[in-house]
Amino acid sequence: MTKSAIQMQVVDTQESSDEKDCVCGQVVPLDTRFCSGCGHQFPEEAAPVPADMQS
Ligand SMILES: [Zn+2]
Repeated sequence: MTKSAIQMQVVDTQESSDEKDCVCGQVVPLDTRFCSGCGHQFPEEAAPVPADMQS
């Protein structure tokens, strides 16, 4: 893999799951703590599956 290929992958992340949707509909980076649109505060750790659903 070349360095240029790696740079292209970084650009491609715009269409991957490195973003999340705010309650207001704004799309923000996954590591963002606050929405830049409405100021909504996101949980510190993402929890895709609630603990009660695991067993
Ligand atoms: Zn928002």
